[in-house]
Amino acid sequence: MSPFADVAFTQCAVEAISPFARRIMAVDGACSRPAGLRTYIVGHGEVALVDPDPASGPLMQAILEATEGERITHVLISHSHGRRSPLGAQLAERFGADVVSGAAGLRDGERIYGRDWTLEAIETPGHTPDHFAFALVEEETVFSGDLVTGWSPEAITPPGGDLSALLGSIRRIQQERFERLAPAHGPVRYDVAGYLHDCLEDAARRERRIAAMVSAYGPTSAWRLATQISPTLRGRSAAEAHEILAHLVRLTSRGDLVSTLPLGVFAQFAAKPRATASGRYPLGISGQDSGARLSA
Ligand SMILES: [Zn+2]
Repeated sequence: MSPFADVAFTQCAVEAISPFARRIMAVDGACSRPAGLRTYIVGHGEVALVDPDPASGPLMQAILEATEGERITHVLISHSHGRRSPLGAQLAERFGADVVSGAAGLRDGERIYGRDWTLEAIETPGHTPDHFAFALVEEETVFSGDLVTGWSPEAITPPGGDLSALLGSIRRIQQERFERLAPAHGPVRYDVAGYLHDCLEDAARRERRIAAMVSAYGPTSAWRLATQISPTLRGRSAAEAHEILAHLVRLTSRGDLVSTLPLGVFAQFAAKPRATASGRYPLGISGQDSGARLSA
């Protein structure tokens, strides 16, 4: 059995997004988003791959065809979350290319040099702790991995993600004033500053709504809020609940909420109770299970 047989692609397409960069769009039957994933090829003749993912025979074939007559010298991996690396490791081994990633010891500001291109690593934790974006120095292009998607201005963190770190990373990329943002999911964005501004605004709006719902409901869970916000989104509830949980954890670490432990989509969150004159918290969620511990 092929080692790539776990993913069924229906389509891989290659196109130039700038003088220095091409992308391969893979539409993946296993992907939760219908428009699939993006792998980028940087340079000409001696090239770098950014986020060749997921492990798939058709994607491997598309990469080999797109780079025919060229040499892959570097494989850049934005982060190690989920499936994002097996194909990169196989390609690196096949071509003797260097693997560049947080897991491989990459540092903020480090530069990777090709024959006609330079990529600079920008540490952008949040989606995962080891997430990096890569700036193409010859252009105002940033390969942004899973920092944000190209579809919708929503900040997404998977289980284990850190929303506060993610928002800080989005602000950092926003300040760099790139002309193109090339994400691992969704279309290239050319209105980078405006788009990232929308992402931050959307996250803030979402957080205000979640805080208001917690105040209105009393002790409640991310799961319950997800079903309230998106009652018709069947199959998206788990992802929605984790996104809401990221906001609840952020609100808790800021001291606005308290929660039961362990944290998870069924943990109970409530507005932080005010201590009474006796110094005791009113009945309900324990004041001791509060943000001070969660923010550690
Ligand atoms: Zn990811």
